[in-house]
This record gives sequence, C-alpha cells and structure tokens, in this order.
Amino acid sequence: MSVFAGLRCAMCKTEFPTEALYVCDQCLGPLEAFYDYDAARRTMTREAIADRPRNLWRYRELLPITGNPRTGFDSGYTPLVRAGRLAEALGVKELYIKDDSVNHPTLSYKDRVVSVAATRALELGFDTLGCASTGNLGNSVAAHAARLGLTCYVFIPQSLEPGKILGSAVAGPHVVGIDGTYDDVNRLCTQVGDRYGWAFANINLRSYYAEGAKTYGFEIVEQLGWRYPRHVVCPVAGGTLLPRLGRAFRELREVGLAAGELPRIYAAQAAGCSPVINALESGATHPEPVKPNTIATSIAIGNPADGYQVLDTVRGSGGSGARATDVEILDAVELLARTEGIFTEPAGGTTLAATIKLLQAGAIPTDESIVVCITGNGYKTSNVMAKRLREPTRLGRSLRDFEAFLAAQQPATRTSV
Ligand SMILES: *Cc1c(COP(=O)(O)O)cnc(C)c1O
Ligand SMILES: [Zn+2]
Repeated sequence: MSVFAGLRCAMCKTEFPTEALYVCDQCLGPLEAFYDYDAARRTMTREAIADRPRNLWRYRELLPITGNPRTGFDSGYTPLVRAGRLAEALGVKELYIKDDSVNHPTLSYKDRVVSVAATRALELGFDTLGCASTGNLGNSVAAHAARLGLTCYVFIPQSLEPGKILGSAVAGPHVVGIDGTYDDVNRLCTQVGDRYGWAFANINLRSYYAEGAKTYGFEIVEQLGWRYPRHVVCPVAGGTLLPRLGRAFRELREVGLAAGELPRIYAAQAAGCSPVINALESGATHPEPVKPNTIATSIAIGNPADGYQVLDTVRGSGGSGARATDVEILDAVELLARTEGIFTEPAGGTTLAATIKLLQAGAIPTDESIVVCITGNGYKTSNVMAKRLREPTRLGRSLRDFEAFLAAQQPATRTSV
C-alpha cells in the first residue's frame, strides 16, 4: 500500500537508495522521502481513510516504510480540542489545541516520529536503536525499543529534569548523560552512529523519522473535516515538526484530500533559545547557533538541524514567529490548565505564550481559525510548576472544620480560576 518511491536531496534533487542515509554527498543538503502521488490519490480517499484504525498509519501511503507497520498502533490520532474557554480568555473566535500531551505510548509528539523510524530500523535490519534527546525523544525511543526487543542507547544532556530521565530509564535502555548541551550530545551521536553502525532515530534515520511528523498535520486537517485552519503555531527545537506540517498541508492538496488556501505557520521559541526567531527578524536564511538557557528544556536546541527548512516554511506560508520568557511560559502552562484542563510541559507553554504575543502584535487576527500545537505533557516536568501553585488546604476530618474553612473564604476566591 505504501507509495514510498525513494530518498531525494531537498536541495539538488539527486536521488538516493532507501537506506540509513540522511545527507546528500553532492551538496550536503538533507535527504527527503518522496512518493508516487498519483498512486496515493487512488487509494487515499476520505472514505477509505475514515474506515481505517485511528492511529498514524491511517496515512500509510505517505509514510516511508516498505513493509507492514511494526509499531505505533496506538500512536497518533490525538484529540483536536475546540478550546472555548481559552478562546474567550484570549478574545479569539475559533481556537483549537492539537493535543499530543496524550500521545501514546510516551505522552509527546515524538511517538509519531519514533513509530516510523523504529519500523524503518527493523526493515533496514538494525538491532540497535539510539537517539540524541532533550528528553521526550529518549522516552519514546526507549519504549519502542523495549517493545521491539532492540538494544537501546539514549544520549541526553546531564541537566535534564528527573521526570524525563526516569521516563527513559524505566524501559531499560543504556541512558548516557553527557556533560554538555544537546548540541554536544548530537555531535557525539553522529560519530557513534558512524562508528558502530547503529540506527539513531533523529540522525542517520532522520529522513524517515521526519516523515512521521507529517501525521500531526494530516490529523489537524482531517479532524477539521478536511478543512485547513488559517493559522498554526508550532514550537521549534531541532526543526523537524514545523516544516513537516507545511509538507503535510501541501501533500493533502497534492493527493486531493483538501483544497483552499494553505495555513500560515508560526514558529514559537523560548527567549532563552531562539535561533529561529532571531533569523526571522534579521532576514538570515540559516539560524545562527545560540547557547540555550531556558526552562523549556525539550526545545532547548541552539543549533537546529532543520533550521533552514523552518525558516523557508514560515516565510513561504506568510507566517512569522515569537519568543516567550520563562515566566510567560509558566503563565501559559497555568492558563491552559485553568481554562481547558490540559497540563502541558514548558514547550507547550512556549507555544501558547507565543500565540498570545502574535495575537497582541496583530500578526494573527482574532476572527480566524487558529491551531496551537501542544506537543508534550506537564506531568514529566511537574518540578517547574510546583513552586507556583497553592499548597493544599489542610483541615481536620470533621464537617465543622470544613464549614469553618468555607465561611472564612472570600466568595471571589471560591469561584475564581
Ligand atoms: C521535540 C519536541 C518539540 C519540537 O521538536 P522539533 O525538533 O522542532 O520537531 C516540541 N515539543 C516537544 C515537547 C518536544 O519534545
Ligand atoms: Zn544535494
């Protein structure tokens, strides 16, 4: 059923065999999967897709595997939530949260990219799966490797939150904490992959991994009734997700599943790590690397691998970007939880905070449809919120104690959020 046709350099268009290759040996451009869209058009009808299981493989034709899916049967097809209370708080008309904080099995958007990369690793005959991670990727790679019986190495910067480290360690991989930033970890993993011939989900399998991110975009459009939203705000770390949203929106038009104007795509970054926003402002075509310093650790990548594609996609779509300070990020995490009951991690707070700034600046109008990409779960990073929240009220066990407590409350505090 796959119409996966091969790998091709995004820059010079040279074609390559479908192996663990990710960079063009002619021009150093990134390699991308390409497909037979005519064949896809014949089988990918709205009706056919509606009958398929609710997971990311419902878009199977446009994913880069050649055999049957081996994992990810519960990944993807996460809720697109119409966020009425948050919309009211922000003064906008039509607002949606695409909620990958509840993705399966490890509660972030990374389960999409890893399902595809892990399946492809098996197809290519690898027995060891690794990654360079800011936390969530490690969690997902460790879970998938455990389930598939692969040897697993998760490389992380030593400074990650305990919840993120634990989320990898529990599945039994070798967790290797490197004394350095994510960018140092990534450099080391490139060398390790070359030397030992291991599959690294986001390095030598990157051409396959990245394609899994398109499913986030396919789902947004399908869940809106095969309609494009006008505006999509997306967090940027290494820059995998944002350009693949653009690619997903174009491919749906290409295969005849959606029509009309493509969405504007906006980049969200933390003020303490905003190489892409800096480049959007300066007009540069490639981000200048920065040294990250933010609580949004899962998006703290100073030298984004796909920075060029992010900038190209944002500009080509008519979008822009915004950065959020750590305080604004935590305020936004709280706002989302208090209006919609969705608890995201600082990466999600960054995206919502950036959305608020883009609305305030008039970059996004208040009367058009907006999707905010919530990509990770707040329970993994509960340490960053703990200090901000009220302690539980402590009472004795009698009804009288409770009545006294309630009588002492100001009416306003009982109803306020
Ligand atoms: C990895 C990640 C992102 C975005 O990463 P890209 O490399 O830009 O695709 C966003 N949010 C969370 C929670 C992540 O873990
Ligand atoms: Zn090339």
